[in-house]
Amino acid sequence: MPQTICALATPPGEGGIAVVRVSGPDTYPIVGKVFFPDRTGKSIEAAKGYTALLGHYYLRGVKMDETIALFFRAPHSYTGEDVIELSVHGGTAMADGLLEALYLAGAHPAGPGEFTRRALENGRMSLTQAEAVMEVISADGRQGAALARSALDGSLAKTISGIQAALRTLSAHITAWVDYPEEDVPELSEGELTLTLTEQLNALDKLIDSYGAGAVLRHGVDCVLLGRPNVGKSTLLNLLAGFDRSIVTPIAGTTRDVVEQAVMLGDTGIRLNLFDTAGVRESGADAAEDEGIRRSWAKLEEAGLVLAVFDLGEELNGEDMEIARRCQGRPALAILNKEDLAGEGEKIQEASAALAPYFKAVLALSAKDPASLMPLCNAVAELLGTAKLDPNAAALCNARQLAAARDARDAIRQALDSQRDGFGLDAAAVCLDDAQRALARLTGEDITESTLDEVFSTFCVGK
Ligand code: GDP
Repeated sequence: MPQTICALATPPGEGGIAVVRVSGPDTYPIVGKVFFPDRTGKSIEAAKGYTALLGHYYLRGVKMDETIALFFRAPHSYTGEDVIELSVHGGTAMADGLLEALYLAGAHPAGPGEFTRRALENGRMSLTQAEAVMEVISADGRQGAALARSALDGSLAKTISGIQAALRTLSAHITAWVDYPEEDVPELSEGELTLTLTEQLNALDKLIDSYGAGAVLRHGVDCVLLGRPNVGKSTLLNLLAGFDRSIVTPIAGTTRDVVEQAVMLGDTGIRLNLFDTAGVRESGADAAEDEGIRRSWAKLEEAGLVLAVFDLGEELNGEDMEIARRCQGRPALAILNKEDLAGEGEKIQEASAALAPYFKAVLALSAKDPASLMPLCNAVAELLGTAKLDPNAAALCNARQLAAARDARDAIRQALDSQRDGFGLDAAAVCLDDAQRALARLTGEDITESTLDEVFSTFCVGK
């Protein structure tokens, strides 16, 4: 029999109210020892699900805070168990007192994610939905939350179960045909097999391909600003941040450090974790500056987005081209800054042509002009793939799911290869089994206790 657990369900700290959630078989008797309704004749034992009562809670016989109790009856609750949510005044003092009273009455402190784990074990949600709960809690930005929500609504589970159903049908057909040749099972046509497998492969590819963009929307992207001194990196940073974050000066080399700052990029829903760079120069007499440059190069390796800035007021030089070369193959955007100084279009075209081979895209703008923000936002959203991401489509929401989806995709690919290379249907059947096992891992149908422990250990207590 599971224990009855309780935890603070709202974030600790200042706030209007704090909610403590209690779940388990003894929820009602335990809360009955702690919470007393203000109106006589009302009792907790008799409270129906989806109703509320106003009262007070007591700690060691002392009347404490005014409390609203919200009742849920199994199985119609978040966890599928009897649940009562108790709202007290915010700040931690009253909630702490209430938790202490509940412990004294026999409740146990909940572990990380224990409420959601119970919901999973009681069939109230799938593993992918449970993981989405975590994403909803941690997502920042509207679109990131919408993405996480769509998994919570089960659209990922639905997409996967569609793929599973198709693979199961194929497997059953192949098994019948291979194992019972004396029965009158029609042979699966090669065309039919290839078509169905290709459809499932495409569905998985779509999920896998959109993972990166989805992760950008949920967690933001580490962004590095690169460029020679004085090309306008600080000005660009200020354009992005919307206020004077870095000191902008016309003297070369004043931005020394890798400044970290997070900004929401216009209304793209993308959070940029920005690293301002020391002006990148070839030689430095100054040790502090060299260190800054070294760190900028190091950041370049791991950045999810590189904004390399060039100055249209000057000719591109060797240092510019070195920066360009280092950007090759990276998610890098070349920004031709000081468009206002470029005069007629020729200069822009020349610089674009020289830089284009090294970058995913090239954009000319004036960092000084606030109107430049919009085209910059569009270029970044395009580059990161978030522009064409449908926030309501099914999405994989963590690395565990991604790995399982990749395994399934690889197995389906092998099944297709086996047919193309003329191996028999039983070769395809083996691959299909692998694919189905990977998908079962993804949905949690085939998941080990230790993986579950790992998934839920990253949850916050109270969820
Ligand atoms: P950083 O060293 O790369 O950070 O460059 P700053 O942002 O400090 O800019 C260097 C100089 O270029 C400053 O005087 C800026 O005002 C100027 N600047 C930046 N952006 C523009 C622009 O779009 N047009 C013009 N004309 N000047 C700019």
